[in-house]
Amino acid sequence: MLIAMNEKGELIRAAAQEEAERIKELKNGVYLCPACQNPVIFKAGTIKVPHFAHKQSEICQSFSEGESAKHLKGKSDFYGWLSLYKEVQLEAFLPEISQRPDLLIDMRIAVEFQCSSIASDLFIQRTNGYVANGYIPLWIYGGPPIKKRGELYTFTPFHRLFFQYSSSFGYWFLAYSPDTEKFSFYSKLIPIQSSLYHASVQEIPLHKMTYPPAFSPSFTSSFSLSSWFQQKHRWLQRQLYFRKGISDPFFRFVYEAGHHPLLLPVWIGLPVRSMALMKSHPIEWQFYLWHDCLSRTRKTTVKQAAKALTRRILKGDLQINVFPLISSLTVEGMIEEYIELLKEAGIAEQPLLSRTTFEQTEKEKAFAAEFGELVKRRLMF
Ligand SMILES: [Zn+2]
Repeated sequence: MLIAMNEKGELIRAAAQEEAERIKELKNGVYLCPACQNPVIFKAGTIKVPHFAHKQSEICQSFSEGESAKHLKGKSDFYGWLSLYKEVQLEAFLPEISQRPDLLIDMRIAVEFQCSSIASDLFIQRTNGYVANGYIPLWIYGGPPIKKRGELYTFTPFHRLFFQYSSSFGYWFLAYSPDTEKFSFYSKLIPIQSSLYHASVQEIPLHKMTYPPAFSPSFTSSFSLSSWFQQKHRWLQRQLYFRKGISDPFFRFVYEAGHHPLLLPVWIGLPVRSMALMKSHPIEWQFYLWHDCLSRTRKTTVKQAAKALTRRILKGDLQINVFPLISSLTVEGMIEEYIELLKEAGIAEQPLLSRTTFEQTEKEKAFAAEFGELVKRRLMF
């Protein structure tokens, strides 16, 4: 912990590494844990940033002694950064919800620097606690670096809990590494497959970071519809192989409807802005949408389509992602984006289907050439 109580009952902040005088001073003091009132000592060694630790390993609800060097350093770094711009408290206790965020900015923004994996239930519970009481949670990821696979990034279900959404950056994710003292800001996150994302990445050293952070919204994305189609093919091939084609409920459904998964209309499986809401690939939910509504009537409303898709979700045919920090995105909104895109591209309801994968690839090439810019414009932020 970075805060302790002195003999007078005042809250004392641990000195930063460079405050040599204060470190000396603090070493002679007597301190208590502000949560459990047990004695703590001030430690200033070489591995962890100066901090307070319980004298004995008694059970303390608020401050577990397992706090890593990384977590302590991150909190200390954030304090140095944020206190240049705002009123900021370290480890402030919020009695109304019995929560202790790592930092509290202007009594409103609760910063959580999460270095270890926690259960999604706990993440959601803490988030809801803040939101219900008028606090704005800001979760910053501090775990192992996001893995890169080719041009794409792997965001696990745990990482996805941190996703936020804004109209200028789309889905975004903020990470900080205390070792390098750098933030990594991933924005315009586009799911290519459930855990593989296309992203724009900006690295900002702590000493250059302002508050509020000034990320550049003009940062361009190298996303293209033709590469999307290639990835879609790879996904289909892999799924057909691993999910064993006909034994998989989705592929069986496609075959039973008289289609081949590789020869569906090119506009089934298009990327749209809110698609990260679905864990299922766009080809899945768009096929169901086409089968259940769009192929039947020209006048499907967004409401009707949303109802049909919700039925599929309840039945277990489609899976959705949970984003505790994003409340503005809905299945209905996602469908609207898709229907609007089809309208703008002037796509007819009854397409001529390809007979061979060669023909399909040619169609996709033509589609990407004609509508690539439109799709990208509607997808980007
Ligand atoms: Zn304690």
